[in-house]
Amino acid sequence: MSVEEVSRLLREHDITPTAQRVEIANVLFTRKEHLSAEDVFVLVNGEAPRVSKATVYNTLGLFAAQGLIREVIADPDRTFYDPNTAPHHHFYDTATGKLTDIPAEAVEISRLPALPEGVQMEGVEVIVRVRPAAR
Ligand SMILES: [Zn+2]
Repeated sequence: MSVEEVSRLLREHDITPTAQRVEIANVLFTRKEHLSAEDVFVLVNGEAPRVSKATVYNTLGLFAAQGLIREVIADPDRTFYDPNTAPHHHFYDTATGKLTDIPAEAVEISRLPALPEGVQMEGVEVIVRVRPAAR
């Protein structure tokens, strides 16, 4: 993606495109993978550290809050940032720590409880936890 395209995408989500935000967004949208904040930090900085860890964490939080990316909390120690904000689900491999997509249509939810009063449904996300099969 060009700097112009990334900047436009940020503005569409009411995010002011600073140089660092553009760089971080570029990493996410070029790779189209589930990345941890640590992954993003390493990828953005490459050989020469330019963006601090705090900036990476704050920026990812802002992107998620503005709906630019999705935050997927696989377990308390592993939060992934997903550039795919369309509805879908995930497999989480607890042995490798890898998150992979499950298409929305592959999961059918047949029953949900009545919602508490005064709220509306925002979405349902399924995380299927897997580990190597016992032999
Ligand atoms: Zn995903």
